[in-house]
Amino acid sequence: MLLPVRRAGQRRWRLIEVKAASEVKDVHREDVAIQCYTARQAGVDLAGAALAHVDTVWVYPGGGDYDGLLQEVDLTREVRQQIAAVEDWIDQARRVVAQPRMPEIETGPQCHTPYECGFLSFCQSQETQPEHPTTLIPGKRRAALVALMEQRHDLALQEVPDALLSDRQRRVKHCTLRNEVAHDLRGARADLQHALPHYYLDFETVQFAVPI
Ligand code: SF4
Repeated sequence: MLLPVRRAGQRRWRLIEVKAASEVKDVHREDVAIQCYTARQAGVDLAGAALAHVDTVWVYPGGGDYDGLLQEVDLTREVRQQIAAVEDWIDQARRVVAQPRMPEIETGPQCHTPYECGFLSFCQSQETQPEHPTTLIPGKRRAALVALMEQRHDLALQEVPDALLSDRQRRVKHCTLRNEVAHDLRGARADLQHALPHYYLDFETVQFAVPI
């Protein structure tokens, strides 16, 4: 967000990037530097830059008072030092785009660090994929499995060790490979004991940064 400030009678702006994080990470610094560079190139007169993250020791006092929930860390000086790096990243990207052919680079860990690359599905579509890819594994994946998948983009479902999977993921793996339908008769019966109508709450839609 951009907040107006007065400096020597002039209206200028403070750029504050708000993250759902508990601390400042290097990737946040780069993010703020890129945003400041973009804002300056667009003619915005920036007086400073900061990152706001959640203060994990803050306690909600009630009454709609969220003062103190976010902690602001001033990054003005760091951003100033990083602007040259931003210009260098842009030059590098322009050189790649200007090439007549795509660089021949296989997908790998770089496609997920620090975030998933927007070209991932395109790049994967250019590579031979296993018949049963690991993207079929549902739910939260253990860190060791994530690391393995990032190392081996051609990893097939049958190559994933059972030890890295939850019960549900193991069931999906084995049913997929055997082309079987899993029918949890007991679970279905237990669910149907509740009187209709049924209501479902998707917890992903209610992830608050702090308890309310
Ligand atoms: S997905 Fe992104 S990071 Fe990975 S190879 Fe393609 S362009 Fe490079």
